[in-house]
Amino acid sequence: MEIPKKMLAAQLVARGQIELREVDVPVPGPGEVLIRVEACGICGTDVEIRDHGMPGEPAMPFTMGHEYAGVVVQLGPTVDEFKIGDRVASEVHKGCGRCHNCIMGEYTACLNFGKPEKGHSASGMTTDGGFAEYAIKHVNTLYKISDQISFDEAAIITTAGSAFYAIDAMGGYIAGDTVAIVGPGPIGLALAQASKALGADKVILTGTRQGRLELGKKMGADYTVNVKEGQDPVAVVRDLTGGLGADVVFDAAGTSDSLDTALNLVRPGGAIVMVAFYKKPVTVNINRAVVRNVHLYTVRGEGRRNVRRALSLSAQNKIDLKPLITHHFPLREINRAFDTFTQRIDNAIKVIVHPQE
Ligand SMILES: [Zn+2]
Ligand SMILES: [Zn+2]
Repeated sequence: MEIPKKMLAAQLVARGQIELREVDVPVPGPGEVLIRVEACGICGTDVEIRDHGMPGEPAMPFTMGHEYAGVVVQLGPTVDEFKIGDRVASEVHKGCGRCHNCIMGEYTACLNFGKPEKGHSASGMTTDGGFAEYAIKHVNTLYKISDQISFDEAAIITTAGSAFYAIDAMGGYIAGDTVAIVGPGPIGLALAQASKALGADKVILTGTRQGRLELGKKMGADYTVNVKEGQDPVAVVRDLTGGLGADVVFDAAGTSDSLDTALNLVRPGGAIVMVAFYKKPVTVNINRAVVRNVHLYTVRGEGRRNVRRALSLSAQNKIDLKPLITHHFPLREINRAFDTFTQRIDNAIKVIVHPQE
């Protein structure tokens, strides 16, 4: 496979400013491969990085993009896990492999986050990512995918991986449970689908946008609650659970209101998993958890190899992320792609960039 010396990359050149630049095609080091990027999704975290930055960020300019899939085109030294031509999905976080958390398997919470000299990388966040024609990935962040999974779906597989990680982090088990999800964003919708695939008894999705809630119904929600239309999620869940509350509640919205709702939806002794980043400090009545022995969990990203589970369920047609994909753009229209995503033009949910177009 012929690999050019130069490529096009969408780089963050200043806060809030992404530009297309011609840069060198990177060369994979030990344990790494070069990927021809076929699809790279835009996520809320990208907007955060563009506009506000994140801890561990490299010096600008650097290439953003952390949700991508493609084809292995070059192997670095020692790589025998993949071969040239393999179609692969990727996850973001490569732990350092030497800190306490990495050794315990919690590599998305690597204690050397943002320290490449220690072996950590999070592509598109702390090193160059996938809004480019080619990108470097360490083998421990890659998964070979079957032919029936499209690159678009593979690019956003971490969305489902994050959902499975959230379930994993609380100790697993959704079979037979009543699950409430606050916030019908991509992760909330993926959680509805994952919960149903794992045998949830009832899935209740609450939010404010009717279109998203409709989509939620297609993706596994048995009941939807539109707060904006005056529906009360607490009353609905009580009604459905004989007054008890949900066994599990996911806060996929990340506000004071959403966490407060979660605290009122969960049954005594149930679990709340916080899967969204909170944009501001939140104020809630945390005694709703303490005095009722509610278990609180947080997760970051798609840890503990849960992307593997997402890919498997996708190949088995038990989950399907395609309904989340609403828009495609070639790499040279990166800023239009971002605008479409941030302004939710035409009800955009997941916007995918195609670097080879
Ligand atoms: Zn993301
Ligand atoms: Zn580590």
